[in-house]
Amino acid sequence: MTSPVWRPFFQHAVEPDPPVIVRAEGAYLHTADGRALLDAISSWWVTTHGHRQPHIMAAIRAATDSLDQMIFATVTHEPAERLARELVAIAPPGLAHVFYSDSGSTAVEVALKMALGAFANRGERRTTIVALEGAYHGDTIGTMSVGERSVFNAAYEPLLFDVARLPFPAPGREQATLDRLEQLARDGGVAALIVEPLVLGAGGMRMYPPSVLAELARIAREAGALVIADEVMTGWGRTGSLFACEQAGLSPDILCTSKGLTGGAVPLAATLATAEIFEAHLSTDRSKTFFHSSSYTANPIACAAAVANLGVWRDEPVRARIAALAAAQAKRVARFEGDPRFANPRVCGTIAAVDLVAPDTGYLAEIGLTLRGFFLERGLLARPLGEVLYLMPPYCVTEAELDRLYDAFEEAAGLIGGPR
Ligand SMILES: *Cc1c(COP(=O)(O)O)cnc(C)c1O
Repeated sequence: MTSPVWRPFFQHAVEPDPPVIVRAEGAYLHTADGRALLDAISSWWVTTHGHRQPHIMAAIRAATDSLDQMIFATVTHEPAERLARELVAIAPPGLAHVFYSDSGSTAVEVALKMALGAFANRGERRTTIVALEGAYHGDTIGTMSVGERSVFNAAYEPLLFDVARLPFPAPGREQATLDRLEQLARDGGVAALIVEPLVLGAGGMRMYPPSVLAELARIAREAGALVIADEVMTGWGRTGSLFACEQAGLSPDILCTSKGLTGGAVPLAATLATAEIFEAHLSTDRSKTFFHSSSYTANPIACAAAVANLGVWRDEPVRARIAALAAAQAKRVARFEGDPRFANPRVCGTIAAVDLVAPDTGYLAEIGLTLRGFFLERGLLARPLGEVLYLMPPYCVTEAELDRLYDAFEEAAGLIGGPR
């Protein structure tokens, strides 16, 4: 091992060296040794239309002719102004202001600070954050605090702040989740409910219906709490609609978006907020300023890429592609129904998942690494979450490519699956 690179979520002591990619195109990553890897997970959920979408790449090239990073606290530029106007126009109604940062984690940190800051600035003592069990909101200290406690953050546990937890609204147990929120709301002090709408991503592609999302938001609002929708993964069509909240008729107070915001080409994040939250920070008393910035806030090249992404959504049949992919996934995932090697086949929009029934499961189980190697040998880039096999491909994926992926799932189950 000669590379000085310290890779993310990578155990250098046991994992093989990763393939070197020399070209990305559509649904494929091409390796230096001439293989094509089918990207079944959109490169960790960022690539929406496909790799190197031509209009987005052209916009990036054009932007670099005239702009690079500039201090956004002091100056502004057209890509950021235009993107903010266009985001407000397509986001759920009521979201009127756009704060830029550069990753999903920072978008969520900003959301939490906006919510807590709004109450603090109004002189109202509300500091409790309510989150779902199994939630994932990022890897910084604040976002780990609102996320599920697990092996991923055990070492930092003493430094994470306390949040109130709702049990996951599993099928048949939704009422317990709602009841717990009612109880927390009665106790008072709840500043915000933060949720991944409809699908808990890193928590294992666990899905719950729009009706539960709508109820959670209603209860939180009636208690005077804010609703934060972490749409970092679910945004940009993943769940079938542009934003997952739409399916619940929900306009959250704060919405976090990142991954698919630039189509997955370059990093950018935005936290959208209502006029009320913005106005809570509006004062001649400068101590009420929203004190947050990233060095690369509103990077013009990234903003230009995002503007181009919105253009692709406007000018190309993206919604029809998503509907077709959703139907193709639903049709295929049904083949696992009743197969004892699989459990819980499920689909939400373009996302399909199924649990592999195996003797040895959990994120740290050997099967995770075994499965990754198994798929890679077949030219497939997939990364099961422990025993959870899932597909979240870019929207350019073909039905024949989906068949290859589903066949590989079956084959993997034949080799590894079996009763616990
Ligand atoms: C990926 C993800 C994040 C964190 O985004 P990063 O860009 O990796 O920091 C936050 N929330 C959700 C729901 C995510 O899926």
